[in-house]
Amino acid sequence: MKNCIRAAKAITLQEGTGLVEDFACIHNGTEILETGTWSSIKKSFSGDVTDLGDVILVPALINAHVHLELSHLEGKTLQGQGFMPWIISLLSNATYAIDETAIRNAVSSMLKTGTAFCADISTQNCSKVAELLHEAGIGFYAFCEAIGPQIPKEGASFFPDKTYPLGRLSGAGHAPYSTHADMLRAIKKADSAANRPYSIHLAENEEEDEIVAKGTGAFAQMLSGAGLLADCGKKGFSPVEYALSLGILDDSTLAIHCVRVSDNDINILAETKTNVCLCPRSNEFIGEGRAPWEKIISSGINTCLGTDSIASNHDLNMWNELEYLLKNIKIPLTTQQALSLVTKNGAKALMVENLYGSIEVGKRPVFATVPSHLEDLLFL
Ligand SMILES: [Zn+2]
Repeated sequence: MKNCIRAAKAITLQEGTGLVEDFACIHNGTEILETGTWSSIKKSFSGDVTDLGDVILVPALINAHVHLELSHLEGKTLQGQGFMPWIISLLSNATYAIDETAIRNAVSSMLKTGTAFCADISTQNCSKVAELLHEAGIGFYAFCEAIGPQIPKEGASFFPDKTYPLGRLSGAGHAPYSTHADMLRAIKKADSAANRPYSIHLAENEEEDEIVAKGTGAFAQMLSGAGLLADCGKKGFSPVEYALSLGILDDSTLAIHCVRVSDNDINILAETKTNVCLCPRSNEFIGEGRAPWEKIISSGINTCLGTDSIASNHDLNMWNELEYLLKNIKIPLTTQQALSLVTKNGAKALMVENLYGSIEVGKRPVFATVPSHLEDLLFL
């Protein structure tokens, strides 16, 4: 059954297009069949028409980094005091005691605010979260995350070989300081062999800098006490240099955070075509400072946004994430650049740009509308 979606305006993010007035898009429920203006499409269209009225239609949003496993920890962590106090407060809870109702509510809040695809990271409950995402009807990559100094066993698998109509699983490493180098490399190799994206938290805070460079500091002691400290070589590398030395940076790797990156680190990320996911409100919530957004975006790095978990953010609303960035960034972004941070770029980073990221023939018919209070920020 064909349906036609109408909107007064649209930004499709199709290559070379701007604001389209009198927009219309025909789809069959699973893919977009035609896009154009209503005045041209109506001549040959017969079927149901959904007129959204005076809105600006855009592609559905992509949340490129979330931990739904932690959805029961809303309001239960310390805010604004830095990474160590935050993680101590996080771990003082039953961190991985999965709460299905909290996860269902979290996914529902994402869908309601225009997100149709997310990249979820789970340390202990990957398969369960994948089931819940599937049940909710949201598109997803569910990453099974490895953490700890264990070396992978010969022939180990890092994610269940299961696919869903709208989702897949993949493998992720937690971070350079917490996951053995052999494990980080093995997961990257397995993801690449399966043609799937790889995710890693990278250069998030100053504690990480010290552990990777020298293996020292209060956080290193804490991790060591918990049996989670990985040997990062103590060669004076930055986290990005260390990741480069492991051979895990390329165009199917998504580096999360990148708060503490030098110009040289940014060059490395750009040259290796590594994708970067910024989590501006999470970094602010924890009190880690902020990434050099302007340099990262200007370098040509494929940059997307994620909320991170509700344990380090106020909500999982990607429009709020974009609003925070646009209100604080020091360089002007075009409407297309700004919208791409929450749509097209995430689709590319997560290797689903054939299905998401723009309103285009062959892609999934999933949309969002620009909240009216963001129109001034987006259309300078
Ligand atoms: Zn995270």
